[in-house]
Amino acid sequence: MSLKIPFGSPIIGEEERRVVAEVLSGPILVHGPKAVEFETAFAGFVGAPHAVAVSSCTAGMHLLYFSLGLGAGDEVIVPAMTHVATAHAVALTGARPVFVDAEPETGNIDLDRIEAALTERTRALAVVHYLGMPVNMERVRQVADRHGLFVVEDCALACGTRFDGVHAGLWGDAGVFSFYPVKHITTAEGGMVVTRDGLLADRIRLLRAFGVDRAHGERKIPGVYETVALGFNYRMSEIHAAIGVEQVRKLPAFLQARSENYRVLRDSLQEIPGIRILEGQHGAGTRYTHSWYCLNVMLDEELIPQRARIIEAMSAAGVGTSVYYPHPVPRFQYYQQQESYNLPRYAQAAAIADGTLALPVGPHLNGDDMAIIAQTLRMIIKGIH
Ligand SMILES: *Cc1c(COP(=O)(O)O)cnc(C)c1O
Repeated sequence: MSLKIPFGSPIIGEEERRVVAEVLSGPILVHGPKAVEFETAFAGFVGAPHAVAVSSCTAGMHLLYFSLGLGAGDEVIVPAMTHVATAHAVALTGARPVFVDAEPETGNIDLDRIEAALTERTRALAVVHYLGMPVNMERVRQVADRHGLFVVEDCALACGTRFDGVHAGLWGDAGVFSFYPVKHITTAEGGMVVTRDGLLADRIRLLRAFGVDRAHGERKIPGVYETVALGFNYRMSEIHAAIGVEQVRKLPAFLQARSENYRVLRDSLQEIPGIRILEGQHGAGTRYTHSWYCLNVMLDEELIPQRARIIEAMSAAGVGTSVYYPHPVPRFQYYQQQESYNLPRYAQAAAIADGTLALPVGPHLNGDDMAIIAQTLRMIIKGIH
């Protein structure tokens, strides 16, 4: 089914097609200059001293926890309202994710509840900039510094997100971005770890390629290399990186289009009864710079049982929507089977999972599309009332 207004759609142009063809015509498909060029370009956009390209955001987060030596008996604070990958990256090491509920206004981790969740086993703190709305990273740093915690920022939806003017990913010990097709930019699959810590960046580079001490291109004599650590194959290929180089160039224009679409859609939704925009106090002129991933609306109580109907009717009218995320992570079957999480503890995350509807504002759409989205939603809600 192809929608007139899809929720997300990668924007791939002639530039991407040309560079991919160039890479495919050459001899180097991995371990080449494109990955380095993409790392440099992305680091430049974020303002990061170090950037390491990896095969996905999940891979990057797993690398970070693995590099800390986390294992059974360790705990990591993880927001309940996030993509399951944020928790899986912890669980893959054998460590235990300890979930913390969301703030109702933004969907971000409730900073007031973190300290109650800490134990002597807590090693790290993961935060997610939910739908690109920045977490108050000054407060995160205070908690982390007080308790000696390593901070991982899941920046999968945070290209362009800033707190106090500093890009997401640079407040924590490391940040990890995703280039999956419906994120701000895409490489088909891909991710990027950014950090201010040069030693950590070196360690991630080593572990993303088997723990082998010399990259392929640095081996003067074939077969002369040493394996100095246990590691993965979490590299990004030259084909993916070449797409990334072109996408980073387009990122400022993509963000501009998103912010414009968001503004138009927000204005057009004002008089629709039964909905409220989930964005907190994050207007212009504050410390919070949004990445405008989507516009998330919370349905009023009487509309919540009708959400599936609303989604279907929107889709029938050609408008794609999404739900971020369908469950608080501890409510997913897999995590339920791991331990008996006390679900009422994640009531705010559950309210967002069960009661919100995400509307598209991506750069594949324009102001006319925003008017159609608002008009369609208005008619559907009117039909229900
Ligand atoms: C998409 C997403 C991920 C997963 O990214 P991959 O690159 O597909 O591994 C992780 N966290 C959040 C918040 C996401 O939205």
